[in-house]
Amino acid sequence: MGNIAKTGMGFVFDLYKATLTAEFQAVTLPPGLIPYAERLYTMYKQNVGLLDDKGELVTTNPQSIDVGLFSFSGGKDSLAVFLKHRHRYSGTICCYVAGASPAYIGEHSRAQDVATRLGVSLRTIQLRRGKNGFLQESVIKNQLIHAMMLDEFGLPQGIGFGATEMVGLQSMAFFHDSKQAFELFHRFAEIAWGDHEFAPFLEDEVDSYNTIFQTGHEDLLNFTASCMTRPHLKRSLRLDVENRFGQVSYNDYDCCACYKCAEKAFILNRYFDREYVGDYLDFCKDLILEKARSPHKMNGFPAQCLGKLGLVV
Ligand SMILES: [Zn+2]
Repeated sequence: MGNIAKTGMGFVFDLYKATLTAEFQAVTLPPGLIPYAERLYTMYKQNVGLLDDKGELVTTNPQSIDVGLFSFSGGKDSLAVFLKHRHRYSGTICCYVAGASPAYIGEHSRAQDVATRLGVSLRTIQLRRGKNGFLQESVIKNQLIHAMMLDEFGLPQGIGFGATEMVGLQSMAFFHDSKQAFELFHRFAEIAWGDHEFAPFLEDEVDSYNTIFQTGHEDLLNFTASCMTRPHLKRSLRLDVENRFGQVSYNDYDCCACYKCAEKAFILNRYFDREYVGDYLDFCKDLILEKARSPHKMNGFPAQCLGKLGLVV
């Protein structure tokens, strides 16, 4: 096979497409992307021999822009990273990639709403819906977003994502949002696009909430999009919870009945004195422990995450 010359974006799309099937497709990669892809394939227990290093990377040369570029999903983590690091840079751009999270209906309007309340303008990039089904959740979704933002806006001073060093209860695939995954991909992005900083990670979920409180934006938690229950089920689940425990949330995006909503209530109560009915906190505790006991889809469950919530399995 002859060498295949592509830009960084071309390779990232190839890799993304390859992850959309249970059996990975063979991918031809430039050397800079191989360490990342090997980790990715290993994580999914796929044969690393599917890689071929004959790919030739044509480095793109986008204009440099004097800003920090922030991925902004409308969730609490990307909000917290922006609030924590916005002043590191001479200017900022907040960006939402539409089409990257098709299951989370309403996420885009939430992101827009949170940005408006914060007084920042939100830029949107559209992920094209190709024949290859670029709409599915994928382990490299955030890396694809990283690449798309560089392609769209140019090379920034730094780039920020709502990622935590310690992956909490919310993660379905540890590699997905982990520090290791971002750092591996960032090495490739620096080869393909040029040097840019990765804005420091949040420590964990508590750090995320803490940043929002310390910067005086806790009211925005009533408008963030963090619950991952399917949209058409949220309202009935919330009504059921409210019938049992009374009102427990002012955010109509929260279902109040999933482990993510449970974690939110538990942390807000434990660390930020937000009051909840005791029976509801017991309900949340059971949800979190049930999640902790279930076999993890990818990588086992991090028991240390329960410690910070004062729970043991
Ligand atoms: Zn929920």
